[in-house]
Amino acid sequence: MATTNFNLRRPNYVVIHHTAQDSVAQTLKTFTLPKTQVSAHYVIAQNGKIYHMLNDYYRAWHAGVGKWGNNQDLNSSSIGIELDNDGFTEFSALQIHSLLKLLGFLKEEYGIPQANFIGHSDLAPSRKVDPNKFFPWKTLAENGYGYWYDEEKIDRIKMAKDSLNSEEFPTALPKELLVPENFDPLLALRIIGYDISKPESAIQAFELHFLQNEPDGKLNDREIKILYNLVFKYL
Ligand SMILES: [Zn+2]
Repeated sequence: MATTNFNLRRPNYVVIHHTAQDSVAQTLKTFTLPKTQVSAHYVIAQNGKIYHMLNDYYRAWHAGVGKWGNNQDLNSSSIGIELDNDGFTEFSALQIHSLLKLLGFLKEEYGIPQANFIGHSDLAPSRKVDPNKFFPWKTLAENGYGYWYDEEKIDRIKMAKDSLNSEEFPTALPKELLVPENFDPLLALRIIGYDISKPESAIQAFELHFLQNEPDGKLNDREIKILYNLVFKYL
């Protein structure tokens, strides 16, 4: 007996990469050679041209070993998008313009939640650093793909621990502007989706995505405030 009640998988995440290769031609070749065992659904060239290499309903091989939330097989549930980029330079305006159009289509077509647009480095901390620090995550969030923190609020947020040394510390700050003493940054990273089994790697992945500096794997007060602001968007 067999059932006829089935259909193909529906992607629920988008994972963004940079190719770390020299040209689109090189990437297209890599993805069509069986021995490489790597692929992605889409490749976007620096001139904005989009190459659709695999039907969205099939499982591409782009995420590899990793974890996001409780999901340990991102290849099965995601669309992989590769941006032609050597890994160290900015992404072109044409490339980002095409990416935003593609993300709009995917979000609408498959009903992908805003939180589920992530980078390869987010799901594979310590193993992957793509897309690089020039990737415009803030622009994506402003368009509804992934989240960004409230930049104008960060400087107004206070740390409860500082109240111990200050007599004029405002005691009646709203919850959103006061990081409580028992705030656990690692738990916040876990709620956002990071695998915290290697805390320093998780912090580095967070820094790459949200601070876009050279990650040092240690959270300073400003980064903790950003994390505190950000985590409420994922609850
Ligand atoms: Zn990647």
